[in-house]
Amino acid sequence: MDRFSLDTRVALVTGAGSGIGRATSLELARAGARVVAADSDLPATVETVELICGDGGRALAVEADVTDVSAVDTMVDAAVTEFGSLDIAVNCAGMTSPPLGILGTTPEDWRRLIEVNLTSVFLCMRAEVPHMLEAGRGSIVNIASGAGLVGANLLPAYTASKHGVVGLTKSVALELAPRGVRVNCICPGATRTPMLEGFLSGNELMEQLMVSGHPIGRLGTPEEIADAVRWVCSDAASFVVGAAITIDGGAIAQ
Ligand code: NAP
Repeated sequence: MDRFSLDTRVALVTGAGSGIGRATSLELARAGARVVAADSDLPATVETVELICGDGGRALAVEADVTDVSAVDTMVDAAVTEFGSLDIAVNCAGMTSPPLGILGTTPEDWRRLIEVNLTSVFLCMRAEVPHMLEAGRGSIVNIASGAGLVGANLLPAYTASKHGVVGLTKSVALELAPRGVRVNCICPGATRTPMLEGFLSGNELMEQLMVSGHPIGRLGTPEEIADAVRWVCSDAASFVVGAAITIDGGAIAQ
């Protein structure tokens, strides 16, 4: 048995319409999983599914706002109804904000970012876990950030939300490890996705500064993050529990 294979597994990926979520959906499908691709942007999610099916994989597109409790429950139910189980969940949907610092961040900005980046991960796990406990196995990978481990200057809400994802991951990992469900998070460094391009808004100086924070001398690709997610989801990572794994060209090692 190939311990890296995801054959026979059913994987749910949120934020699957773009960036890391799309690359992860494609990679999990390549590894043999049937993928439920979920995002608030349905046309983009359908595009992800078409890419998977064009590659010979099986996938279902689901429109879901991960901040909406009933939409999250419906999304998870759709996965189980379509494919019969839920073995893997990658909670990836998220947003960033402009670098406005503590005084430029309004209470509304704060609440929205915490809701989209942190509360959504709680809501998703709450819906995903019962199916995994019933099966006695499962792997959940939350997409945090390097900003979940160290402060990102001028991004107080983003930093707080991602530190929250790391803490939430560790707590739930402790609770579920004895019951066969592994929970981990991945902490990407700056990765070239539509989110990052939007954040940089063509500002070359900011991009150079960002690159210089990564000892490898470049930004990451969504595929490099997806490769790590695939491994953590697989049986090859069977002893990996409650980890916050940096995939960041050395950024956090400094
Ligand atoms: P992306 O390209 O913007 O993809 C994020 C996807 O999530 C988009 O399709 C977005 O849809 C969707 N989404 C946002 N809010 C949602 C909601 N409430 N419900 C459902 N879907 C929602 O971003 P990315 O760079 O791939 O980021 C993916 C994850 O990686 C995020 O959690 C991010 O914080 C994390 N991360 C990214 C980087 C990086 O440098 N790129 C670094 C560290 C961590 P819309 O476009 O319609 O909003």
